[in-house]
Amino acid sequence: MSQTSPPLLTAMPVMHEVAQQTYPVSALYVLATPIGNVCDITLRGLHMLSLADAIACEDTRNTAHLLNRYGVSKPLLAAHEHNEREVAEKIVARLQAGERIVLVSDAGTPAISDPGARIVDAVLHAGLRVIPLPGASAGIAALSASGLLNDQFHFIGFLSPKAGARDKQLERLATDTATLVLYEAPHRIVDTIDALLKVFGPLRQIVFARELTKLFETIHRCPLSEAPGWLSADANHQRGEFVLLIEGAPQQADNDDVEALRVLRILLAELPVKQAATLAAQLTGQKKNALYQQALALRDADDAAAEQG
Ligand code: SAM
Repeated sequence: MSQTSPPLLTAMPVMHEVAQQTYPVSALYVLATPIGNVCDITLRGLHMLSLADAIACEDTRNTAHLLNRYGVSKPLLAAHEHNEREVAEKIVARLQAGERIVLVSDAGTPAISDPGARIVDAVLHAGLRVIPLPGASAGIAALSASGLLNDQFHFIGFLSPKAGARDKQLERLATDTATLVLYEAPHRIVDTIDALLKVFGPLRQIVFARELTKLFETIHRCPLSEAPGWLSADANHQRGEFVLLIEGAPQQADNDDVEALRVLRILLAELPVKQAATLAAQLTGQKKNALYQQALALRDADDAAAEQG
């Protein structure tokens, strides 16, 4: 079968359309940038970068580096979480003078676990236009490749870095039937998995979406009981950037299941597996065998965590 070679990107008919579309002045353009692979930026986004009067960015060095890859040179305005309010006023004044300003963060979509929302709010308050230029976002990329069959997801972003607050947050989420979408840093991944296992139990599925769009991209799905083992099996599994997806609570009888697991955990801290499962079954009315299997998995995971130190 003969194959025709693809047209050069610049010769594609759509490139003409990109330049023909309208890009209003006095507007803030919220642009998603790549989460790893430099090519993951839209045609409209690239064109807008070339039209911008200035680019507001989280870290000027990172953005200068990215723009350099695209051959774009523009004035940069530092807009990070510590100066968002002040820079918002400056941006509003510049937009009122008829400029087009592009807002980016270091990676992915601005205002999603990133600065940007305050600037957008100030621009809207001033009666000016905000135009999204959609693209990469780590959580959405992870969901799209996860294979988890649930139309609903709950975006959590980063959990609290404090163990007590984190555990309370997780307990509040324990009956949520939507897939949970978490962001996590590599130095906290082991502790977070431990906490997820304790609160959600061993049976729920977790998806590790690591280094998405990069050289060492890994998407691994397993029950929570196997998650500590997977992390410790290879030092590389704990490195890089992570999205964690947690299967939602079962739709039926979810509150009963969660309560039984909570009771089982308390008993397991004091009693052998069999006794803890028997008592938990008596106290909650749940099936003894199912609780016994869960108790075994919890105990195994605890032992594995203890071995890791
Ligand atoms: N605004 C970004 C977005 O739209 O996804 C998120 C920024 S947040 C400060 C950075 C976190 O996103 C990382 O700690 C990690 O949890 C997640 N993340 C970013 N890039 C990623 C990637 N390539 N693979 C996996 N997770 C990533």
